[in-house]
Amino acid sequence: MSMNQIILLNPFKFEKRKMDIPILLEGEILVQIKRIGICGTDIHAFHGNQPFFSYPRILGHELSGIVVDENSNNKDLLGESVAILPYLSCGKCNSCLRGKTNCCANLKVMGVHVDGGFCEYIAVPQTNIIDGNGLNLDFLALVEPLSISYHGIIRADISEKDWVIVFGTGPIGIGALMFAKSKTDKIILIDVNEHRITFCQHKLGIFYAFNGDDIELYEKIKNITNGNFGDIVLDATGNKKAMQQQLNYLGHGGKWILIGLQKEELNISHPEFHKREATLMSSRNATKEDFQKVLNKINDKKIDASILMSHTLFFEEVMDHFLETIKDSNLIKGIIKVNELEK
Ligand SMILES: [Zn+2]
Ligand SMILES: [Zn+2]
Repeated sequence: MSMNQIILLNPFKFEKRKMDIPILLEGEILVQIKRIGICGTDIHAFHGNQPFFSYPRILGHELSGIVVDENSNNKDLLGESVAILPYLSCGKCNSCLRGKTNCCANLKVMGVHVDGGFCEYIAVPQTNIIDGNGLNLDFLALVEPLSISYHGIIRADISEKDWVIVFGTGPIGIGALMFAKSKTDKIILIDVNEHRITFCQHKLGIFYAFNGDDIELYEKIKNITNGNFGDIVLDATGNKKAMQQQLNYLGHGGKWILIGLQKEELNISHPEFHKREATLMSSRNATKEDFQKVLNKINDKKIDASILMSHTLFFEEVMDHFLETIKDSNLIKGIIKVNELEK
């Protein structure tokens, strides 16, 4: 049996190919892909500016689908809707052995370092299958980006006394705001995109929302926080210029958490860092446990994942409409629907 897959040959150049449906290796499960979230990583790869990225590559790591075949010794998942944990960890390195599979020293991310889900069927190791527990396929594809936000919020260990300042309101920042809101009311968001600022104010009910280019930003945040600034400063911009300013907004004793990733060096004033006794952390990917927690939170309606879904397109439209979708200035998260058109 054959299937369609879309390969990114080079920046800006997709090619559609007919391929055989994957033959399963030991311990793998066959999933019919149903939804693919379009991530900033895919957009950077498409534009040719994703660090450590090689071509050709099949994109797609925010995946949900239906189990259509599996190892004969386990039929429990057959026909079930599932999310896919796209991080292939080695299970042997020091971080894996300490349960930190999200930052495995030999990590390979589907759709980034190895081929991903821009196809109709994919073989996935059974340990990377997350049982959907009845959650719909759209939301299951959003579990991955939301888990990245959730992991950052867990790293931040927010208490209700804390002022939390979130820089960046793309899908990861929005997710971080949603999870932070369940910990504290004292939240400030900063972005440079007015559409996103207003969007977050309305959809998430965040009162303190500012443009990062506002020349009075520092004074405003100083006043709101009684001169204390952020107990937690969280980056979800992946933008060097934004990151370079963030230490100024961190309070004494505070934690600075970088979920976003940019490809250059950061320069910080050591005295400014030292006098705060600041804690600097990165937050990379998410664990399987994060995925399961996030899935339950969506199922229990603790968070509303539908806020993220701004655009949908069919797999059959990717060749012609991908660029137009990612260029739309109102884009929050695009979802590709696969195996949904009559053939
Ligand atoms: Zn992503
Ligand atoms: Zn490992």
